[in-house]
Amino acid sequence: MSAYKIIDHTYDVVVVGAGGAGLRATMGSAEKGLKTACITKVFPTRSHTVAAQGGIAASLGNMGPDHWTWHMYDTVKGSDWLGDQDAIEYLTREAPAAVVELEHMGMPFSRTAEGEIYQRAFGGMTQNMGEGPAAQRTCAAADRTGHAMLHTLYQQSLKYESDFFIEYFALDLIMENGECRGVIALSMDDGSIHRFRAQAVVLATGGYGRAYFSATSAHTSTGDGNAMVLRAGLPLQDMEFVQFHPTGVYGVGVLITEGARGEGGYLTNSEGERFMERYAPSAKDLASRDVVSRSMAMEIREGRGVGEHKDHIFLHLDHIDPKILAERLPGITETAMTFAGVDLTRQPIPVTPTVHYNMGGIPTNYHGEVVTIRDGNPDSIVPGLFAVGEAACVSVHGANRLGSNSLIDLVVFGRATGHRLGETLKPGAQQQPLPKDSAELSLARLDHFRHAEGGSPTAQIREEMQRTMQADCAVFRTERSLAEGVQKIDAVYQRMKDIHVTDRSLIWNSDLVETLELDNLISQAVVTMHCAANRKESRGAHMHEDYPKRDDAKWMKHTAAWFEGWGGKGGAVKIDYRPVHEYTLTDDIDYIKPKARVY
Ligand SMILES: Cc1cc2nc3c(=O)[nH]c(=O)nc-3n(C[C@H](O)[C@H](O)[C@H](O)COP(=O)(O)OP(=O)(O)OC[C@H]3O[C@@H](n4cnc5c(N)ncnc54)[C@H](O)[C@@H]3O)c2cc1C
Repeated sequence: MSAYKIIDHTYDVVVVGAGGAGLRATMGSAEKGLKTACITKVFPTRSHTVAAQGGIAASLGNMGPDHWTWHMYDTVKGSDWLGDQDAIEYLTREAPAAVVELEHMGMPFSRTAEGEIYQRAFGGMTQNMGEGPAAQRTCAAADRTGHAMLHTLYQQSLKYESDFFIEYFALDLIMENGECRGVIALSMDDGSIHRFRAQAVVLATGGYGRAYFSATSAHTSTGDGNAMVLRAGLPLQDMEFVQFHPTGVYGVGVLITEGARGEGGYLTNSEGERFMERYAPSAKDLASRDVVSRSMAMEIREGRGVGEHKDHIFLHLDHIDPKILAERLPGITETAMTFAGVDLTRQPIPVTPTVHYNMGGIPTNYHGEVVTIRDGNPDSIVPGLFAVGEAACVSVHGANRLGSNSLIDLVVFGRATGHRLGETLKPGAQQQPLPKDSAELSLARLDHFRHAEGGSPTAQIREEMQRTMQADCAVFRTERSLAEGVQKIDAVYQRMKDIHVTDRSLIWNSDLVETLELDNLISQAVVTMHCAANRKESRGAHMHEDYPKRDDAKWMKHTAAWFEGWGGKGGAVKIDYRPVHEYTLTDDIDYIKPKARVY
C-alpha cells in the first residue's frame, strides 16, 4: 500500500462533483471567503446536468397566473406526500429568485415576445392548488436548458477563487468519530493519490441511473457519493423510489423531453387511441411521470403496444407547426432522426418508459447538512458532511419527482449549502491532523480491485446487475418479482468476489475506474432492491401490485438503509425509518394534508 504516492491538501471546503449542484455549491462556498476545492471525475461541462432538456421550474408567472404556493402544492402532490414540506416550501419560495440569479449570470433563456423568460407546461404543474388548468412554470432555453445552465455556472464559477481538480476520481470519505474530515481521490492521468483535509465535504455526485440496463443518464452516473456514504457506515434514504421517464427512445434509452408533451405532443397505442384520456382525464399526457409511465406499461401489457413486438408506444409531434418545433425543440428533432430514424414533423417517435432519476439518496435537511438516525434522533447532523443535487434526498421529491424540479433543486440547495457553510465555518480555521490510517480503507480497496484476478470481467457482472434491476425492480413490482430480485441481486453482489481486472497500470486505467464504479453501483442496487421489497404499499414511483394502495397509516415514512461491505464482502442491508416532516417552514402556508392523487 505504501507504494502509492500520497499528496496532501488542506482546504476549508471540498466539493465532490461539478454538475449544476456542485458548481453552485462551489461558488457559494468561495463567495463566503472559504478556501474551496472542487473535485470532478469528468470535465465540469460534461457532467450529466449538461443533458437536461426541458427546463427549470419557478413560479415567475411570465405566461399566466402563478404563485409559489401553487408550485408547492404540486410538488407535495407529485411526491405522493413523502416529501418534507419544510424543504418543499424552501424550494418553491426560493425558486423565482434562483432563476433570476441565473438570468443575471447570463444564462441564455428562450424569450417571450415581451422579452421575458419563456415558460412551458410540464407534467403535474397546475394553477390554483391543483384546481386550475396547467401552469406554464418551466423556464426553458429551447430544449437544451441544462447545457445553457451548466455552461453559465461553470463560466461564473471561474470568477471566484476556487481550485478545480479535474479528472480526479474521489474514492472515499475520511471519517473520524462520526465526523467527516476530508476525502481521498485518485488522479486518473498519473495515478497519484490525493488526500484532502477539509472542515467540510460536499457530495454533489449525481444519480445512479446506471444500475439499470436502460437509462437516460450518462455512463458516469454511478452514484459514487452515495456509495461512499454507505461505506462510511451512514444510511441512504428512500432508495426504492426510482423514476421511469415515459419517453425514452425505444431500444436506445435516449431521452425525449417532457417538454415535447408540454408543447402539445401526445401518446397513442396500436389502435391510434390517445389512451392517457382514460387514465388521467384532466391532465391527460401531462399527468405526473409515474402515472404516465404506468399507463404506458398497462397498454403494452394488455396487447396495445406498437411495433413488431407490441412493446412500445408512439409519441406524436407531427401535428405541431414545424416552425415551432424548430424553435422550441431543435435538439429533440435531431435526437429523433439520429436515434430512431424518424422525421418528427411527419412521423411519431417510438418511446418506452426508461430509468431517469433517483428520488432516493443521501438524507439531508434544507441547509444541505447530511443527517442520520443517532441515539433516537432521526435528524442528527453528521458534522462536516453536506450533500446536494440528485445525490441528496432533502427530501423535496418524495416518492416521485416532477419534471423540471431537479434543475431548480440543484441551484436552490447548492446556494443554501453555500450559505450554511458560510454561517458555520471560519475561513482558514485550524484543523486537527488526520488520523494515521486515514487513507487505509480506500487504498486497500483500490489495491484489491487493481490486482483482482477472478474469473468474471467487470462488464459481465455489470450487465447481470443491470438486467436484474431492469427485470425485477421495474415500473410494476410484485411480492414475487421483488423476492426473486432480492435473491438475484444478492447473488450478483457475491460475484464481485470473483471480479477480474485486466489492466494493472495507474495511467488512465478505465478498466479499474469502471470496476470501482461498478462496486459503487452494486451496493446501491442491493439497497434499492431490498428497500423495494420492504415497502408494502404503492406510492409514487413504487407501484406494488400486491399492495396497490398508498398506506399513510403504516408507510408515510422515509426508509433509511445501511449497507455493510464492498467488493462482495458482507452484503447485509439494515432498514430503519425517519418521519416525514409534516410541517411547513413558516406560517405563510399550512401543512398540505394527504389526499387521493388524481390527475
Ligand atoms: C437526459 C436527462 C435530461 C434531464 N432533463 C431535466 C430537465 O429538463 N429538468 C430537470 O429539472 N431535470 C432534468 N434531468 C435531471 C437533472 O438533469 C439531474 O438530476 C441533475 O442534472 C443532476 O445534477 P447533479 O449536479 O446532482 O449531478 P451531475 O450533473 O450528474 O454531476 C455529477 C458530478 O459529480 C462528479 N462525480 C461523480 N462521481 C465522482 C467521483 N467519484 N469523483 C469525482 N467526481 C465525481 C461528476 O464528474 C460530475 O461533475 C434530466 C436528466 C437527464 C439524464
